[in-house]
Amino acid sequence: MVGGGQLARMTHEAGIPLGIRFKLLSDTPQDSAAQVVSDVVIGDYRDLDTLREFAKGCDVITFDHEHVPTEHLRALEADGIPVRPGPDALVHAQDKGVMRARLDAIGIPCPRHRIVTDPADVAAFAAEGLPEGAEDGGTARSSGAESGGGFPVVLKTVRGGYDGKGVWVVDNETEAADPFRAGVPVLAEEKVDYVRELAANVVRSPHGQAVAYPVVESQQVNGVCDTVIAPAPDLDESLALKAEEMALTIAKELDVVGHLAVELFQTRDGRILVNELAMRPHNSGHWTQDGAITSQFANHVRAVLDLPLGDPRPRAKWTVMVNVLGGDYPDMYSAYLHCMARDPQLKIHMYGKDVKPGRKVGHVNTYGDDLADVLDRARHAAGYLRGTITE
Ligand code: ADP
Repeated sequence: MVGGGQLARMTHEAGIPLGIRFKLLSDTPQDSAAQVVSDVVIGDYRDLDTLREFAKGCDVITFDHEHVPTEHLRALEADGIPVRPGPDALVHAQDKGVMRARLDAIGIPCPRHRIVTDPADVAAFAAEGLPEGAEDGGTARSSGAESGGGFPVVLKTVRGGYDGKGVWVVDNETEAADPFRAGVPVLAEEKVDYVRELAANVVRSPHGQAVAYPVVESQQVNGVCDTVIAPAPDLDESLALKAEEMALTIAKELDVVGHLAVELFQTRDGRILVNELAMRPHNSGHWTQDGAITSQFANHVRAVLDLPLGDPRPRAKWTVMVNVLGGDYPDMYSAYLHCMARDPQLKIHMYGKDVKPGRKVGHVNTYGDDLADVLDRARHAAGYLRGTITE
C-alpha cells in the first residue's frame, strides 16, 4: 500500500487474519501505518524510481490516498504490476474536472458546474444558472436557490484539495480571485441547498463482484468529517436505493477496484447529487469496523486481491462513528480510564499520531438499538478523549 496514514494502518490490520503480507511505502517512519507494519520502505511516492523499487515483489499495489501522479501509475502498470484501483479509474478521484465530466456522461446527477477561467468567468457562470430576466443582484439571489444560479458559487481547485482545503464559497466576482492564484484549473459549482450530506459506500472486485454498505449520514464540522450515522436516519427507502444504485453504477462504469466512497448531497427538494468520489477506504466507512459483518478495510483487501467479497450488512440497528480530533491535551491515553469504565461497549480506534489541534487522531464507534443513546455515547467518548468534555 502506498501511503502511511491511518487508512493504511487499518487496512493492514484487516489483512492480518487473512495472513496477507503487507508492504508499505511511507513518507516517514513515524507515520501512522509505518509504526505497525514490519515491511516498510521510506520514500517519496512522487518519485517514479522509488515507486518502481517499492513495487518489486508486490502482487498488487493499492493506496491510502489519491495523490500518486497518474502517469506514474501508468508506468507501474506498463511494468506489469497490477495497480488497483487502476489509473483510469483513480483519475476520477484525483481530478474533480475529469470526475464531473465523466459523471455527466453516464447520467449521474451532480451540482451544476463547469471549469472557469477567471473571476469574470465565475460571474458569467453564476448568471448562466439564472432564469431569463433575473439578472439583477436581488432577484438573482432569491431565484438562485431553485435554479442553481447566482451567487454564492463554490470554487474548487480540480486537484490537490482535501478536508475542505481547495474549496472556496464566494459571494461576488471580487472574492473569486483567490482560487486562481494557485495556477491550477478551477471548477465552479452551484452552491447546493442541501439538508444533509450522505455517503454511499461500495466495494468492487476485478471480477466485477460488488457489494453496497447501507447509505450513511455524514456530518461535517469546519469542513472535516465529525460524525457518521449508519444507516442514515429517516432516509426514504427509494432515495437510499437510488444512492446505492448510483454508487454501484459509478463503480462499474469507471471500473473501480476496491472501496469506493461516493459523497452525496441530499437536497431540500428531495434529490441526491454527487459531491466527491474517493477510491480507497474512507472516513464515512469507519463505522463498518464494528458495525458491519465485513469492514470496508477487509473488503478493500479482498477486492484488490480479487477474492470473493464479504457481507456488508450491518450487525446492529444503529452504528455511530465520531472522529477524535487533537485538542489541548497532548496525552489522550489518560482519558482511557474514564471512557472504558463508563462504556464497556465503546470501540476506540487510535492512530498513534501526535496530537495537534484539529488533526484527526482517532475515532470511536458505538452501536445499539437506541439512536439517541448510541450518538450520545460516541460523542461523549470522542469529546472526553479530545478534552472538550471533562466529566
Ligand atoms: P474536499 O473533500 O476535497 O475537501 P469537497 O468537494 O468534499 O472537498 O468539499 C468540502 C465541503 O464543502 C463539502 O463537504 C461540503 O460541505 C462543501 N461543498 C462542496 N461542494 C459544495 C457545493 N457544490 N454546494 C454546497 N456545498 C459544497
